[in-house]
Amino acid sequence: VRFDIKRTLLDRLTGQPARAIHALNGVRLEIPRGETLGVVGESGCGKSTLARTIVGLIEANDGRVMFEGRDVAGLKGGARRAYNRRVQMIFQDPYGSLNPQMSVRQVLTEALSVHKMRSKAEIPGRIAELLDLVRLPQDAADKRPHEFSGGQRQRIGIARALAVEPEILVADELVSALDVSVQAQVVNLLLDLQQRFKLTVIFVAHDLRLVRHISDRVAVMYLGEIVEIGETEALFTAPRHPYTRTLLDAAPDLDPTRRTRVASAKGELPSPLSLPSGCRFHPRCPYVFDRCREEHPILKAHGARQLAACHLEDFSKAGV
Ligand code: SF4
Ligand code: MG
Repeated sequence: VRFDIKRTLLDRLTGQPARAIHALNGVRLEIPRGETLGVVGESGCGKSTLARTIVGLIEANDGRVMFEGRDVAGLKGGARRAYNRRVQMIFQDPYGSLNPQMSVRQVLTEALSVHKMRSKAEIPGRIAELLDLVRLPQDAADKRPHEFSGGQRQRIGIARALAVEPEILVADELVSALDVSVQAQVVNLLLDLQQRFKLTVIFVAHDLRLVRHISDRVAVMYLGEIVEIGETEALFTAPRHPYTRTLLDAAPDLDPTRRTRVASAKGELPSPLSLPSGCRFHPRCPYVFDRCREEHPILKAHGARQLAACHLEDFSKAGV
């Protein structure tokens, strides 16, 4: 699948004068069917905006979301419903996304009915099947969200997404609210289901270790742009963008054997209301040079496995 997001503007920053900010700028993703793409970056980098834009919860109000060569905003009626069905989101907070008044049966019935996935007579059987798939007991059907643990609620969220037989699952911080032991169960469930149904997964998370574990490829976002994208091990062991390097260095538990630290990013993430000129990372980059302040770098290939948006051919050889 391919997404090509020209631009998403957000103009509802609370506490700020009403001004449009560019939350996403020229994000292009090509994801082979069945692959998991991890999306990482500091909070505020636009990764949640990307997830929400892809599933249509945020409209790209300037620019567009292209999917399979078609502008999603231009899809009408059945074509739009088909898109909404094929691309499903699983939310971070199952409390927030499940109606507390509705039983699991009602939640799943609603999902199945909206997209006319089954006839009325087939729905009970399908619900039983979905509960099996996410390894919940059958009596879960008549319970409400508050009767479940966090991990179980996340399984309900997965069942709801799966109900409509999607091709793409977008998970935003799927397990970050869960205990570590429960995280592994939910992640393993997701991986099993992915294999079984050849799902393409976009896995947005700040937990680099987890992302490394489950992703085929990883995209690193900074201030609304993808600054590096590549095969997971290549990106984690030999990052091609200085920002990726600093992100990895800020997670020391990733590789306890690595003692030499390169210079780390300086300062805070700039406000998206006043984006830096040239390379958006330049005010914090240890390798910054004149050209970086003026010219916006585009993604360039480094071998067959990585792309990075940096003017330097190999920052790791540049002196700091
Ligand atoms: Fe740093 Fe310049 Fe590369 Fe941007 S383009 S990451 S400022 S070296
Ligand atoms: Mg977020």
